[in-house]
Amino acid sequence: MAIIGIDLGTTNSLAAVWRNHRCELIPNAAGEYLTPSAVSVEADGSILVGQAAKERLVSHPERSVAGFKRDMGTARRFPLGEYVFSPEELSSFLLRSLREDAERYLGQPVTEAVISVPAYFAEGQRAATKRAAALAGLRVERLLNEPSAAAVAGERVRENEQKLALVFDFGGGTLDVSLVEMFENVVSVVAVSGDTHLGGRDFDAAIARAFCQECGLEWNRLSARQRGNLLHQAERCKVALSSQEPVLMSVADEEISASLILTSEWLLRKCGTLFRRMTAPVRKVFLDAGLPPAELNDLIMVGGSSRMPTVRSYISRFLKKEPVRKYAPDTAIARGAGICAGMKEYAKELRDLILTDICPFTLGVDVINQNEPGRLLMSPIIERNSVLPTSRMGIYSTTRDNQDKVEIRIYQGENRYCADNTYLGKMELSVPPAPAGEQSIRIRFTYDVNGLFEAEAVNDLGERARLLLRNGDMTDDELRIRLQELEKLKLHPREQTANREVTARGERLYAVTVGRARYQVGQMLDWFQTQLTTQDLLRIANARWRATRFFDQVEAYLQDADFPSGDWPDGEDPPLEDEL
Ligand code: ADP
Ligand code: MG
Repeated sequence: MAIIGIDLGTTNSLAAVWRNHRCELIPNAAGEYLTPSAVSVEADGSILVGQAAKERLVSHPERSVAGFKRDMGTARRFPLGEYVFSPEELSSFLLRSLREDAERYLGQPVTEAVISVPAYFAEGQRAATKRAAALAGLRVERLLNEPSAAAVAGERVRENEQKLALVFDFGGGTLDVSLVEMFENVVSVVAVSGDTHLGGRDFDAAIARAFCQECGLEWNRLSARQRGNLLHQAERCKVALSSQEPVLMSVADEEISASLILTSEWLLRKCGTLFRRMTAPVRKVFLDAGLPPAELNDLIMVGGSSRMPTVRSYISRFLKKEPVRKYAPDTAIARGAGICAGMKEYAKELRDLILTDICPFTLGVDVINQNEPGRLLMSPIIERNSVLPTSRMGIYSTTRDNQDKVEIRIYQGENRYCADNTYLGKMELSVPPAPAGEQSIRIRFTYDVNGLFEAEAVNDLGERARLLLRNGDMTDDELRIRLQELEKLKLHPREQTANREVTARGERLYAVTVGRARYQVGQMLDWFQTQLTTQDLLRIANARWRATRFFDQVEAYLQDADFPSGDWPDGEDPPLEDEL
């Protein structure tokens, strides 16, 4: 049975598989590789995933959501229509849909996956990712750090060659920067850093706000739908600016109507702070690794936002290095996950490839703070950026006379005080009575590549206490109950995905146009609906093609024409009469 590799992104997700001696990307129901990480609830209560759900962020904002990966492992809940979902449940819908696409593509059941996660993902976020997979019927073979995945997707390093690469992964919501060492067949992450609140959508927001400012609109006065549309237009223009210049951005509805010409130079000026923020994590990885930037061999730029020429040249100038061209920004991480899945299946070609990971955060225990007794200090045992698997020991002693036991609390994080770090669990150990400081306790932490963490404490008599944290595992009962709940929800049928995407796109265009254009979009939607009821597959495929072409025209019109009053030109009517 095949193991698939999954890049479960904040903005887009995709799956890959090792087959026929190479890594293949898996297309979704609509034939695309990228599936937007968006979920929407339909009026009949069924769940939509992907492009159609992304379109509905504009037309049905209160029933649609994206970007929930940022909230993995938190208690945040998302009300969508009549339901309320946790981030891991939303992720499970996405994973379920990727799994179904893979099953269709491979013609066999898929129950195992390698899933990539940001290197800085902490224990709780990794656990939530594993639970999401379990809820989607997938067992996680390995959680792979995204930079390792990106690095392994490129060329293999030649014999006796050693390379230091910087992976600059700039996605929709986050920037992840990592230093990766490649020595012959071993790929290891040396240091990671990043900004969890810097990504493509910050550019969209900055563009939308600057647009408002220059066109005399007040962002705060706009409706949710108007803002959604502005962000949508901003993203379109940003993407267009990656391949052409200048680009016209315009919006028009019942209340507002404005347009503006955008150039790269304008973008640099309006998003200056965003550009400057990109360099902080780059500096930090070199500092953390204790390496000078001059030792860098390769600059690997991945993630959709790395396609922006302004971003590429800014980072390239900062590091005085051209990015390696071999990496396709959108798909490199999924390819890496697919290669790792191949390694798990013992593919011949990958036999000598070894991927090592690092622990992206510090793990430690609490100790008394002599100066401020109320504030316990964190004593690190496994330090951030240690290579996994790792096992380290710390030696501690009693602090009170005749102390009969110690309570050892385990924390994760980089802060000096325990209270500012994340509490993971505790263990208790008895100690023989003696004056303060005379009894010692040895604490050993062991952490492996799959997130299995074990802590063991031993006193001077050889007595032991242990704590095992296996991230993400639910008991069978928990899993059964949650699966039953989720199974009551119907995922939108896969066969209808392509049609649903066309309607969702039409509904979005309807929501953001006015006048004649809106009227015609409405007509096209009606016509398309009647074609769907014929249940004639050829006819429906034709109708889909035609509706798509028409919506492309509307989109191009919104994009390019000066469109002050929402007028739709004469003579461009879609042929709506049934002539198929
Ligand atoms: P994530 O890792 O967050 O899932 P991706 O790596 O898929 O995200 O990147 C998504 C981001 O990339 C979005 O903000 C999108 O607007 C942006 N993006 C995609 N293609 C381009 C392009 N050609 N030019 C500029 N930005 C792009
Ligand atoms: Mg990504």
